[in-house]
Amino acid sequence: MDSSMLSSRQSRRGFLKNSIIAGTLSYLEYKGLFALSALKERIRKSPDIFYKYKTMSVAHFKELQEDIDGLRNKGKLSRHKIYRSYIDELKFEIPDNFPTAKSIVIISKFTRLMYVNFHLNGKTYEVMIPPQYYSDGISSEDLTEIIHKEIIKKPGYRVERADKVHLKLLAVRSGLGKYGRNNLCFVDGMGNFITLVAFFTDFEFEEDHWQELALLDACRNCVICYGICPTNCITKENFVINVGRCITLFNEVKGKFPRWILPSMHNALVGCMKCQLRCPENEGFAGLSGRLEDVTEDETLKILQGKPDEGLLNSLSRKLKKFVPASSKEYFPIFTRNLRALIRPGLSTIKNSDF
Ligand code: SF4
Ligand code: SF4
Repeated sequence: MDSSMLSSRQSRRGFLKNSIIAGTLSYLEYKGLFALSALKERIRKSPDIFYKYKTMSVAHFKELQEDIDGLRNKGKLSRHKIYRSYIDELKFEIPDNFPTAKSIVIISKFTRLMYVNFHLNGKTYEVMIPPQYYSDGISSEDLTEIIHKEIIKKPGYRVERADKVHLKLLAVRSGLGKYGRNNLCFVDGMGNFITLVAFFTDFEFEEDHWQELALLDACRNCVICYGICPTNCITKENFVINVGRCITLFNEVKGKFPRWILPSMHNALVGCMKCQLRCPENEGFAGLSGRLEDVTEDETLKILQGKPDEGLLNSLSRKLKKFVPASSKEYFPIFTRNLRALIRPGLSTIKNSDF
C-alpha cells in the first residue's frame, strides 16, 4: 500500500482530519442500530478511514510470547508447513534497530469486503475479495502520521511499523478485540471486517492496556461457524481451529488444491468468507461492502488462460486495487487457479483451443 493510492478527494490533510474524527468517536456511538447507520454514513463520506486503537507496554512481550509458546508446546498449533512458515518468523521481541522502543500501538482499520464482476461468454460472475487482500489506500506512512498527531500528540518520538508480531493476539490482549470461535479477531463496531497494524514507539503511554484472553460472549451460545465451515476445521472442543484444514491456507499460495477441498467449497477470489458472512457479530458489516471495477470478457479469458501481459497486469492491478495475485507474473498462477475454481460452470463454455 502506498499513499499514491489515496484519491484526490482523500488528500493527506483530508485523510488525517477524517481519521481524527473517526479515531475519537466513543465506543457507545458504535453500538446497536445507530452504530450501523453512523458507520454507513461515515463510509459513504470517506470509505477507508475508520480506525480504533489500543496501546501496550513492551514489558508484556514476555507474557505474549509465552501465550504462543504455550500453544505450540501443547501441540495446539497446526504443524502444516505453510502455516509454520507464517508463524515461525513472528516473535514478540524488541527489534535490534529500535532498542529504545517502550510501547506498541495496535490499530484496527475497518476494511470493507469488496465485490467484483468477471464477464465470460455473456455471463457475469460476481466474486468476493475479502478485506486485507486489496489495498485500501491507507499507507504505513499515513498511520504513522496519525499516531504522531492523534495518539502520542507530542513531538520528538519515533514510530516504526511492527511487522513481525502476532497481530490478533496483540489485539485481543490489549482489549482492542476479542477472539471468535473461528479464531478471527472481532472489534466492537467493526466485526471482523478489519485490518490490524502495529507500530513500535519510544513514547511511554500513561495507560497500559492489558487483559486476559477473551472470547466473544456471542460464541458461548452459538455454533454457526462450526456448522458452516466447509472443511470442518472449527471444532467445539478445541478453541484453536485446525488451520491445516482452512481453505485460506491453500488458496493464498501456489500449487494444486488438496483433493479434499471440493470445487464447491471455494467462495472468494482468495481466502474464505464462509465463517464470517453468517456470523451474528458481523451483522450489517458485510452489507457495507464496496464494488471494484468490472473485469472485461477479454481480461477474464486471459486470466483463465494464465497468460498475463504487462497491459493486463497494469489494468488488473488498478481495477482490483493492487490485489497481489493480479499484480505480478510470479503470483498470477494463484489468480488463474482461484478464478477457475470460482467460475467453473463457465469454463465448459470455452473452447479447448482457448486454453
Ligand atoms: S458464528 Fe457464532 S460461534 Fe462463530 S464466531 Fe460468530 S458468534 Fe462466534
Ligand atoms: S475461513 Fe473458511 S475454511 Fe477457514 S475456518 Fe472459516 S469457514 Fe472454515
